[in-house]
Amino acid sequence: MIKQLTIIGVGLIGGSLARALREAGVVDEVVGGGRDAAHLQRAQALGVITRYTTDLAAAVQGADMVLLAVPVGAMEVVLRAIAPQLPADAVLTDAGSTKGSVIAAAQRVFGALPAGFVPGHPIAGTENSGVEASFAELYRGRRVILTPTTASSAEAVERVRAMWQATGAEVMEMDAEHHDHVLAATSHLPHLLAFGLVDTLAKMGDKQEIFAYAAGGFRDFTRIASSDPQMWRDICVHNEPALLALLDRFEVDLKRLREAIANGDGGYLLEVFSHAKAARDRFCDEN
Ligand code: NAP
Repeated sequence: MIKQLTIIGVGLIGGSLARALREAGVVDEVVGGGRDAAHLQRAQALGVITRYTTDLAAAVQGADMVLLAVPVGAMEVVLRAIAPQLPADAVLTDAGSTKGSVIAAAQRVFGALPAGFVPGHPIAGTENSGVEASFAELYRGRRVILTPTTASSAEAVERVRAMWQATGAEVMEMDAEHHDHVLAATSHLPHLLAFGLVDTLAKMGDKQEIFAYAAGGFRDFTRIASSDPQMWRDICVHNEPALLALLDRFEVDLKRLREAIANGDGGYLLEVFSHAKAARDRFCDEN
């Protein structure tokens, strides 16, 4: 199905895609591109990629499919590096967690968006980074959202869809702006809160004692604060409007919770907690 897949950024996301497609037998050659030769060499030694180069323009030469799986803050510089050598008939996609910012970067680099450009985002991941953390089953049974632009050709969309389906993922399409609002709510805000809470606690004078008594609840709530700080900085900065709107809304609700505690308003707390429990239980039953 794919003759040469070039992956720029062979980490958790790029490496897992390469592993899944190679396991499914739907790709002939996987070329890795990145900044760090030692990391790429490791990816080759692990059997994730066939060959590699740190020359990004050279990496895309001969590719019929190109995936960008670098932090969203690095997308523009990578697009600029590959643009001169990107084959005219290659399909270009990405795995970035924000979509509006990647499309805007592509617009700045290409001028008119190419017909072969199909932005995407796999809704799958772990708090671990790097090729060592990658595994072939990451996308099985998970969702991948494609956010085609008005310029994306139907054929390119179909090829990206087929690639992700070969990993066992369910593929859906969404408008990029809608994607960024939905993901701000379900992913970006929770990460921001987890990082923020752990930072607040870690700055407290008696933090040794606090962490000594931390149990399952703390571990569950803060697991995602072990995620890569640079990646999440990039995501928060590049989804500013959607994240700010949601933060404003959450601030109002948090203030209301604070008032309830200050006023001994257990009824309000019970109402909020019961509503939240029902919503989460329903989500867990359905997923
Ligand atoms: P990762 O494991 O840290 O991998 C990122 C890769 O990008 C590394 O191989 C890194 O290589 C390379 N890289 C970083 N900056 C670069 C640059 N300027 N030029 C070239 N290569 C560069 O991160 P990941 O979790 O796979 O995330 C990759 C993308 O997928 C991000 O856009 C992220 O938002 C998105 N995503 C992540 C998740 C998740 O849960 N992790 C889920 C869905 C989507 P070197 O450091 O070796 O140079």
